[in-house]
Amino acid sequence: MKKVWFGRCIFISWYCDVATCKFCYRSTQKARIKHAQHARRKLASLITEAILAKNLNWRIEFLTGGYKTYNTKELIQITKIISEIYGEKIWLNLGALTEEEIKQFKPYIKGVVASIETIDETLHNEICPNKPIKPYEEMLQNTDLQKSITIVIGLGEKKEHFDQLKNFISKHNLDRITFYALKPVPETPYTEGPTTEQYTWWIKQTREAFPKLQIIAGTTLRRVDEVSEILKAGADAITKFPATKKFNSEQAKELENQVKKANCEFISTLTKLPDINWENEVDKLDIDEKLKAETKQILNSYIKNMSK
Ligand code: SF4
Repeated sequence: MKKVWFGRCIFISWYCDVATCKFCYRSTQKARIKHAQHARRKLASLITEAILAKNLNWRIEFLTGGYKTYNTKELIQITKIISEIYGEKIWLNLGALTEEEIKQFKPYIKGVVASIETIDETLHNEICPNKPIKPYEEMLQNTDLQKSITIVIGLGEKKEHFDQLKNFISKHNLDRITFYALKPVPETPYTEGPTTEQYTWWIKQTREAFPKLQIIAGTTLRRVDEVSEILKAGADAITKFPATKKFNSEQAKELENQVKKANCEFISTLTKLPDINWENEVDKLDIDEKLKAETKQILNSYIKNMSK
């Protein structure tokens, strides 16, 4: 029976310096966030997420979201702390990193993710005018770590673009790919996401072309009832579900049912909190007392909400 897991992204800030990708929530927020520093998340919140991921058997999909909010030294320090708490090296999705930067992250990361979004260059340049593919390609070419990309379905891509995706995966010898179904965001030109058929078509084609590639697929609260189709199309894992906010909700239960419906075993949980002393989990960590106290406070509030 195929084992399926939940992948949790950890966002280290809510700011993006690019902020011009036409489909993205952050393109609607940049004017509202005047200072990148204010969009930083507290380290204690990031630590809380790593503790939850570890104890609920979630995999850390990647650490992301720090474009120009932190300097490289700070990003390395955060990556080190999160990987140590989680107990494994993690994936990093922090833009097009140089070879020199990757070298510094290397003790703590297993791979790098390139947020390609859409593969056809003309469409890509129209939708992500300030995030060219080339620097990402250079990053993928210049690393000996594992490699992954993200692709959003519903941005205007055509089935004939699949050959370009196939060539890209082969050319860069990717280990992993994450697909998302576009979630239309108000104030962007997009008003609807792809149908289940359109979304799963890409997953299915990719699985057929690359039987060993790890395929992860995003879902949202509104799309959980297609999870079995996504898994049948060939995905190995589910991501993007708002797992802490909607823990043990109807949608979380439905997601787990959908995994069963696809005849797969769910090795993570989105519905049952383990019976452990959460404060002990914080006490075990090699962090200072002030940070421990702050983490306990945040973790307790997460657990309280997740227990409702
Ligand atoms: S898609 Fe990524 S790079 Fe583009 S605006 Fe959104 S967060 Fe920034």
